[in-house]
Amino acid sequence: MMIGEERILAKNLIQEIFRISSKEINLMEFCGGHTVAILKQGIRQLLPGHVHLLSGPGCPVCVTATGDIDNIIQLSGYRDVITATFGDLIRVPGSKSSLQKSRAEGNDIRVVYSALEALDIARQNPGKRVVMVGIGFETTAPTVAASVLQAEREGIKNYLVHSLHKLTPPVMKALLDSGDVKLDGIICPGHVSTVIGARPYEFIPQNYGIACAITGFEPLDILEGIHMLVRQIESGTPTVEIAYRRAVRPEGNLKALDLMNKVFTVGSAWWRGIGEVPGSGLKLREEYRAFDAATVFQLTPQDAAEPAGCLCGEILRAVKTPLDCPLFRKKCNPEQPVGPCMVSAEGACSAYYLYGESDG
Ligand code: SF4
Repeated sequence: MMIGEERILAKNLIQEIFRISSKEINLMEFCGGHTVAILKQGIRQLLPGHVHLLSGPGCPVCVTATGDIDNIIQLSGYRDVITATFGDLIRVPGSKSSLQKSRAEGNDIRVVYSALEALDIARQNPGKRVVMVGIGFETTAPTVAASVLQAEREGIKNYLVHSLHKLTPPVMKALLDSGDVKLDGIICPGHVSTVIGARPYEFIPQNYGIACAITGFEPLDILEGIHMLVRQIESGTPTVEIAYRRAVRPEGNLKALDLMNKVFTVGSAWWRGIGEVPGSGLKLREEYRAFDAATVFQLTPQDAAEPAGCLCGEILRAVKTPLDCPLFRKKCNPEQPVGPCMVSAEGACSAYYLYGESDG
């Protein structure tokens, strides 16, 4: 909720967006956190009808491929394994089961809030192997890297990481190369950018002529980001601007980047709805192989069918919205989700469901 001065600033930004925007403009908010904030705050309704906001693939739980979920479920079935994962993932359906069902069958699956919590479980259970499922973008990867380094320092041998971490700029490139969706501007993710900074997005205006603005999650941040994008687009001068200056520096967080680069190397990753994107994932480096669940348990990406009728793949590519899905609000709802976009708190379907987005 905005108060006093913020309200005036927001009003001025909206007036300015109306004044300078003259044509159809497609902006994609990459991050699921932005999708939620935009819908919750009713920001779409404040903009001119020709400025469209499309939801992108920036929900880590949603983009985790079904085959990878199947692997984690299989892993959770080993008698000596404790699987540690972030909350939303537990309810995401795999092709035959889910982690929730696996837990109901008696397997030891713990929901953790950080990788260090998983490391603690490993300390307390020396007779078990604890596998931390590393999902998330550049935001969570440094803390998972820190947990591996800590395990190494302490000589903890029963802690492993299954890295499904994904990188933002390479998948943005894959989306733009696919030509599936015509974009004029991208609202770049706030939290990811606190780690990677602004520079990794520079190829977008330079090679694709598409505007970029990094924003935070408050209504004013988002409106300022949209204003920056519209101004760049209307003046024909696409670049990368930062509307989240209190948290993002152009060079990013060098300490976090160092941590990430020390433990991980770049590899291929599978994305739901997008497929395999070279250079868009993080794998443990050779020297940390002993901590790598993929190596120890010989996990390889599997091909797996998407839930029948679910459009999450298309929604993550911004070519469809939840309103296009015939299952939305009918067979699929937060209590009985069919696909991950309804499970995750950052999923577009869950946000549309909770905040009442309708056609028009
Ligand atoms: Fe999938 Fe449900 Fe979203 Fe449809 S509403 S795309 S079934 S998660």
